[in-house]
Amino acid sequence: MVLKELQNIFHIELDAIYGQHEVNSFFYLCTEHYLNIARIQLTLEPELAITKPETETFFKALEHLKQQKPIQYLLGETEFFGLPFKLNENVLIPRPETEELVDLIIRSHSEQSEASKLKILDIGTGSGCIAISLAKNLPNAEVYALDVSPDALKMAKQNAELNKVNAHFIEASILDETCHSALDAASKFDIIVSNPPYVRNLEKQEIKPNVLNNEPHLALFVEDDNPLLFYKAITAFAEKILKSKGQLYFEINQYLGEETKALLTNTNFEAVKLLKDLNGNNRMLKGKKV
Ligand code: GLN
Repeated sequence: MVLKELQNIFHIELDAIYGQHEVNSFFYLCTEHYLNIARIQLTLEPELAITKPETETFFKALEHLKQQKPIQYLLGETEFFGLPFKLNENVLIPRPETEELVDLIIRSHSEQSEASKLKILDIGTGSGCIAISLAKNLPNAEVYALDVSPDALKMAKQNAELNKVNAHFIEASILDETCHSALDAASKFDIIVSNPPYVRNLEKQEIKPNVLNNEPHLALFVEDDNPLLFYKAITAFAEKILKSKGQLYFEINQYLGEETKALLTNTNFEAVKLLKDLNGNNRMLKGKKV
């Protein structure tokens, strides 16, 4: 089948769900992934044809996309902070907001990391996207990454290998004592970062079906009556395990900016700052341990 024809079928079947622009990018991601054909080649060779089995692979992908399965899970990969990451349904698909958090940390600590060792802990690492992109971009970082899910840790370890970085992966929950004992030996940290679950059940109607039906709820949702559960536990833990002047960084629920900020200002943190993402929503919080 001629690829152009196939592209037309993608548009006919999917434009109503995703819009033309997004369908184009799906199609190009598929040609790159399944055929190793770059976008430009398609433009240069409009009559490019593919074999029957290749065509079948595309039709299978099309079926999944019609059911709103995220393309990142379909292809089993994505890009985050310019780095490749493997993915499956056990981990959240990395978001652009989280790239902003990583960028903030790298900009704030590059010089420090050149001068001395920087010990970093990522709590709830998932795919490992935060931990690995920090390890890759901060030359003297020694990175620890914790997650409660063994399946997520499996993925994170593969991603560390793929990106050729070293990190210590630890299976533990921030909500119980396991993480205290697991990290005792590691002593104090310069940086603690976390993007914990923060979406309240009451916000479920805002969440698109492709997220709701495919991404791990364990990584996304918290109870309406205690939405800051993870932030409370992490802040208390950070108070103990951060060095003096160590930094705590959070990705946060945009609707709970002030409440989350208060957790830090009411405890042993100074220079507490709420920061907005590119969409203008309160999305990042940082504070320095006194
Ligand atoms: N930003 C993610 C979303 O809106 C949520 C991430 C999280 O709960 N930590 O789907």
